[in-house]
Amino acid sequence: MKIVEKKCPNCHANLEFKVGESDIRCPNCRREYAVEYDKDFVDPEVQIKAKDIQLKVLDDIAKARVFNRVFFVVVFIFTAVIICISIVMAVRGYEDYRQTKEEMEQSQQEHEAQFERMWQEAEDQYNKSKESF
Ligand SMILES: [Zn+2]
Repeated sequence: MKIVEKKCPNCHANLEFKVGESDIRCPNCRREYAVEYDKDFVDPEVQIKAKDIQLKVLDDIAKARVFNRVFFVVVFIFTAVIICISIVMAVRGYEDYRQTKEEMEQSQQEHEAQFERMWQEAEDQYNKSKESF
């Protein structure tokens, strides 16, 4: 396996790699390079290109941050809507309950009043029939 030597464009340290390798890392500055070979490659006509890994990572982090923020906002809005709906439904349910209770109490009072009147009438009739004897 042929060994190729190049200098790191960044720190000028020696870069050694075997022909065929496509990724190398500078042992001195840790920068990563992609190796590009000439099509009709006879003697080492090799180019090395810095891989913008750091830039890509930073870009990914930025994208992830935006996604996280959007995700948080969506979840927050969703939760807020659910809470609002729950409150509205609870208030409505309580109002229904109060109204029904009021109606039942009113109807009970009416029944009691009616019973009272009927009782009074029956008593009056009894007293009248007693007098007539
Ligand atoms: Zn280097």
